[in-house]
Amino acid sequence: MNLRPRKEQGTLEWEPDVYGRSQLGNSLEVWPSGGPCRLLVFAAIHGEEGETTTALSLALRHLAAPSPHCAVVLAANPDGLIRGTRGNARGVDLNRNFPTKDWRPDPVLHRTTLGAPRNVALSPGESPGSEPETRALIELIWELKPEAVVALHAPLGCIDDPNESDLGRWLAERTGMPLVPDVGYPTPGSFGTWGAEQGLHVVTYELGLTTPDDVVRDHVPVLVELLTRSL
Ligand SMILES: [Zn+2]
Repeated sequence: MNLRPRKEQGTLEWEPDVYGRSQLGNSLEVWPSGGPCRLLVFAAIHGEEGETTTALSLALRHLAAPSPHCAVVLAANPDGLIRGTRGNARGVDLNRNFPTKDWRPDPVLHRTTLGAPRNVALSPGESPGSEPETRALIELIWELKPEAVVALHAPLGCIDDPNESDLGRWLAERTGMPLVPDVGYPTPGSFGTWGAEQGLHVVTYELGLTTPDDVVRDHVPVLVELLTRSL
């Protein structure tokens, strides 16, 4: 498909649909696919992973028309993105708030850098699916019925695909990052676990510990290809 000239890539070419409201009332936005949705790509369910939003936005801005098959959510957690927090405005780690069989009420411990101890506590929510951002994303997926979802995160530097699917292998090959079956620690209530329980194919695309320049150079071309390649 045609890509926009570079001088036009400063702005998004078309307006998104609003699929819900965040806790603070911010729009939850989706850029729909041009045809039937086969793939949903979302960024920033963790609000402090803003590089995922920047990379996916820049990829989307390459397109002269909606992706034929791919819907895009630039920020699944806009309140966290605005405030620079991992969780949403209520301090909930949305990626532990999905209604899965293994959801737990225990605090979610995370680390602020890869070398730091895992000792910063967030909430998994009062109950599974308690957060408006979680419920809206589930309803969006029920509405769009994609075959697969790519969830962008940082900074583990891997493609996490328990199914080692063609899509996961393709992303690993194109990014040069390892394909792994899990991230190496339990993630109860995560989006990936919820997807697996729904029969939805979820690939977690973890950007690495790189500079913003590296993300643009190494990952935006892969994301452009993901949005434009035929499935
Ligand atoms: Zn993350």
